[in-house]
Amino acid sequence: MAPDQAAAHPAPVALSEAANASTSPMTDASVPEPDLAPVVFDVKDLSVYYGAFRAIRDASLEIRQHEIAAFIGPSGCGKSTMLRCFDRMNDLIEGARVEGQVLYHGVDLYDAAIDPVEVRKRIGMVFQKPNPFPKSIYDNVAFGPKLAGLKGSMDDRVEAALRRAALWDEVKDRLKKSAMGLSGGQQQRLCIARAIAVEPEVVLMDEPCSALDPIATARIEDLMQELKADYTIVIVTHNMQQAARVSDRTAFFTTEVNETSDTRTGVLVEYDVTDKMFSNPSDERTENYVTGRFG
Ligand code: ADP
Repeated sequence: MAPDQAAAHPAPVALSEAANASTSPMTDASVPEPDLAPVVFDVKDLSVYYGAFRAIRDASLEIRQHEIAAFIGPSGCGKSTMLRCFDRMNDLIEGARVEGQVLYHGVDLYDAAIDPVEVRKRIGMVFQKPNPFPKSIYDNVAFGPKLAGLKGSMDDRVEAALRRAALWDEVKDRLKKSAMGLSGGQQQRLCIARAIAVEPEVVLMDEPCSALDPIATARIEDLMQELKADYTIVIVTHNMQQAARVSDRTAFFTTEVNETSDTRTGVLVEYDVTDKMFSNPSDERTENYVTGRFG
C-alpha cells in the first residue's frame, strides 16, 4: 500500500471504527438474514505458508459475533495456524506468509496500514498450556491494561476481569500472591482474565483444556458459555465432544497429499452449525471423522 493510503487509514481508528459500526447484521447495503449475527471475521481463500510449505489451502469461512466457533480435525491439519491468522500471531514466525484475506468487520487484517499490536488488543489469545507471568495474580491481570494505557481504577478492572473469568471468589484474598501457586485450572482462568482485561472483542483459545483435568475442563467450558454473551470465541480443540458441547459452529479440517511433494496440506472440509456437523454433515469425510471411522 502507498504511504498516502496508509496515512488515510490509521490502523487503530480503522479497526475500532469498523468493529463499532458493525452492530447490525450486515455491513453492506444488502438485506440481513434476521437470525444471523454480524460477521466478525470473514476469511476468504486463505492459504498459509511456512517457507515453501503450504500448511493451509484456500480456506473460507465466516465467524459470527457472540458465537463460539470450534476448529476440529486431525493433528497437523492447520487448526492452530488458522487461529493464529486472526490475531496475526503468524507474523511472529519466521518464514510464515499468508495469501487471501482475513477481514475483521470488513477491514483486511493483513493490510499494510494495520498495526498488529492494535489487532492483539481487540483479539485476545489463550494458549494450550496455562502461561501466567511469574508475578502476582493482580499483576498478571493488570499487565495488559497498564501496557495499553487504559484509564479508570485498576482495582476495579482487575476485579471485573477476575469475576468474569469465574476466579474472583477463589483468589480475592490472595491477589498479591504469586500466580504460580494456583492450580492448572485456576491458572488457565487467570489467563482468560488476563486476556479479557484489555476489553477485546474476540477471544481465541488454542486447546485451552488439553492440559487440564476433567473438572477444570468443565469449569472452562461453562465459563466459555458465559463469556460468549460478551465476546466472540474461536476455539481449537482436539476433543470432538468438547466441540459438540460448547460450540455453535464447527469447522472440520483435514489434510490432503500434495501432488508435487510428499507433504500434506490442510484443507477446510466443512463448516456449519455444530448440531448439523455432528448429526448430519454434508461431506463424507466429516461424517467419517465425527463417527470415529477416521483415525
Ligand atoms: P494443528 O493445529 O491442526 O495440529 P498446525 O497449524 O499446528 O496444525 O500445523 C499445520 C502444519 O503446519 C503442520 O504440518 C505443521 O508441522 C506445520 N507448522 C506449524 N507451525 C509451523 C512452524 N512454526 N514452522 C513450520 N511449520 C509449521
